[in-house]
Amino acid sequence: PVDDKWHEWKASIDTTRPSIARAYDVVLNGKDNFEVDRAFVAEIVKVVPEIYDVATYNREILGRGVRFMAGQGITQFIDLGSGLPTVENTHHVAQRANPESRVVYVDNDPMVLAHGRALLAEDDRTAVLTTDLRDPSAILADPAVRKLIDFDRPVGVMLVGILHHLHDDEDPRGIIERYMAAVPSGSYLFVTHFCDSSQDARDAEKKFLALLGTGRFRTPEEITAFFDGFELLDPGVVPLPLWRPDGPTPKDLTVGQRLMYGGLARKP
Ligand code: SAM
Repeated sequence: PVDDKWHEWKASIDTTRPSIARAYDVVLNGKDNFEVDRAFVAEIVKVVPEIYDVATYNREILGRGVRFMAGQGITQFIDLGSGLPTVENTHHVAQRANPESRVVYVDNDPMVLAHGRALLAEDDRTAVLTTDLRDPSAILADPAVRKLIDFDRPVGVMLVGILHHLHDDEDPRGIIERYMAAVPSGSYLFVTHFCDSSQDARDAEKKFLALLGTGRFRTPEEITAFFDGFELLDPGVVPLPLWRPDGPTPKDLTVGQRLMYGGLARKP
């Protein structure tokens, strides 16, 4: 349905500056992007030619993480900074493990709204909130979230590929704490994050900042600190391909394979 809210969001799609969601769509070989997004990615390719592979590693760990949580009995997920729906999205993986699984997607990019509507039309166990994840109280109080998520049962809280878009003064750790305070013991926190792991990574971070207006790549120690107070599961915070790989553990990682780190922790 087309309503006033939709027109409002459509008008807010800015095609003169790259958007995070659309640039990510470029590296996932999607079609929901504009020239300005492709130009941004072309700049990143100059410093990290493997950036398309990095997006794939991130999608792969997302699938492994959701499968792991589902294997622990998790049937409810809040996926913050979820991006444009793509293949093997959280609800696909979760619902394959348990058809009753419920997923709330949160993203502030207006492009996500259009796709969110299509998703909602086909699936009453999935909700899409077009809103800013930096406002946990509003999201946690949202009627759509309250309807789908039972906060007396464990929840998988996902911040996958998003926290490096939050600067320190936006208090990413405080945001994590507020979401995790709302969910019971046995819930999970799942994070992947661009890592300050090489000079190429630092060059990419500079381009993120200059062209996208956001970018704070963190050290493995800083990323690990996001999990303080939770039980970080093996193998800890590691380069994405090393986190519980489906196949053999890769050796001698490339710059691209070390560009993002991830980890999963359980709330005690
Ligand atoms: N989580 C997905 C994945 O890892 O495959 C998508 C990651 S994508 C790189 C990051 C997403 O976060 C984008 O879609 C962007 O629009 C969204 N985002 C960035 N800042 C946000 C904010 N403050 N609130 C909600 N979403 C945000």
